[in-house]
Amino acid sequence: MSSPTYIIVGSGVFGASTALYMIRKYPHASVTLIDRDNFTAATRVAASWDWNKVIRADYNEIVYTKLALEAQQLWRTDQIWQPFYHESGVVYITHSKLAEKVIKNFDDLGVKVDVRACSVEETRTLYDGAFADADYTNIKEVLVNRTSGWAEAKEALQSTIQTAVDLGVKYITAEVTAVEFVGGPENRICRGVKTSTGEIITADHIILCTGAFTPRLLMDSAPESAELHAGSRIQASAVTEAIAPLIEQQRSFLETMPVGVNDNPTANGCDYGCLPLPKLNAFKYWGQVIFRNTVEHPITKESLSMPPSGPNYNQWDVPLALKEDVRGGPRSVLGNKNLSDRFEEFRICWEALTPSADFIISPHSACSGLFIATCGSFHGFKFLPILGKYVVEMLAGELDPNLQKRWAWDRELPPTEDNKQWSTKELKDLSG
Ligand SMILES: Cc1cc2nc3c(=O)[nH]c(=O)nc-3n(C[C@H](O)[C@H](O)[C@H](O)COP(=O)(O)OP(=O)(O)OC[C@H]3O[C@@H](n4cnc5c(N)ncnc54)[C@H](O)[C@@H]3O)c2cc1C
Repeated sequence: MSSPTYIIVGSGVFGASTALYMIRKYPHASVTLIDRDNFTAATRVAASWDWNKVIRADYNEIVYTKLALEAQQLWRTDQIWQPFYHESGVVYITHSKLAEKVIKNFDDLGVKVDVRACSVEETRTLYDGAFADADYTNIKEVLVNRTSGWAEAKEALQSTIQTAVDLGVKYITAEVTAVEFVGGPENRICRGVKTSTGEIITADHIILCTGAFTPRLLMDSAPESAELHAGSRIQASAVTEAIAPLIEQQRSFLETMPVGVNDNPTANGCDYGCLPLPKLNAFKYWGQVIFRNTVEHPITKESLSMPPSGPNYNQWDVPLALKEDVRGGPRSVLGNKNLSDRFEEFRICWEALTPSADFIISPHSACSGLFIATCGSFHGFKFLPILGKYVVEMLAGELDPNLQKRWAWDRELPPTEDNKQWSTKELKDLSG
């Protein structure tokens, strides 16, 4: 019997981790990882390519708390990820009852975590007063977890892919223009992918880890077959980020600085975040405005949100309104105290969201041989060390039934009104 063959499209955290776990479990299988960007490229369009990302197990939900603790253990100990992990702590200035829920989750799981609900007055004194002047409007208590932190994102991603390649994964740099199908709705089989040069690459299992591009790729691949399209399951959305280099006298901050997140001010959208970036003597900020790019598909004429079709999703071409959004970060998180107002490298980071913010790790229900593993919903990066384990379990039909249901392609979609990370604006309305 011939060995199984796998094509993974997309080498963000979902694809990279899947490739690693796949080749570890099936060392003789043919595993091909395809991405439009080389994994050593200086910049990439992947949401997973970034200067840094927050690593935390502070979740409202116990399911993700448990998964994040599992991932965090590997961030702390495994040589693939440990060199890039920094346990600096995280301070959440939020209106929600996050602290209460997070502490209960850790208690219920019986894990010892250095987490506290602090008063505003106490928070002002922590970390050498870094948050003394933050915007605490209507804040009752602050979650401070000294056992959370951040990771050097692009380096950790590269380390994962390099390890997979060293173990035998083949990496191909190519744009996939279509997924290839044979048969009709009753007996459709996915047999491979087509690249922009017209090459067809075949395998028994095709796993799409294509992030924000997934809805577009499915519609491009089979415009006439609505049952293959993502529909309301996935929405491509984005947030703007930038780095702020620090001047000489601010650098002492970097040594002790935790990640800071603040819901205030509330008028513009979700939350602001600030992460230390010691290698560049800078902070990274993300903005509050979450937006989509709804356009008409050229063939189906249906409206769907997708990353802009210019080179690199036009990610470095940031409209003024979105730059202004990020510029509000220092005032919100640190109260402008001792901060540089110089911002560089504004970037729009495209992500795949689901209405419930749960991932999709599932067979596609309208086609055999096709699988979807993506939709980090603005929180997927931290799971890099374990995502592949669950994707491989899904492929083997061994995924825990509760996770299977939660991450299914076909599942009940909740209303998005209560999802504070659902996009509220259109890119075209923010441009110009
Ligand atoms: C601004 C921002 C901040 C975030 N911060 C955090 C954080 O602090 N902590 C955290 O845990 N999570 C965070 N996230 C979420 C996290 O980054 C994502 O959930 C995760 O990176 C998604 O991974 P992915 O593999 O699904 O997609 P991606 O990383 O986007 O990877 C998809 C890959 O598919 C490739 N691809 C797509 N289509 C094709 C094609 N047709 N042909 C070839 N290649 C293709 C792309 O080139 C890309 O490399 C953040 C997200 C954003 C947007």
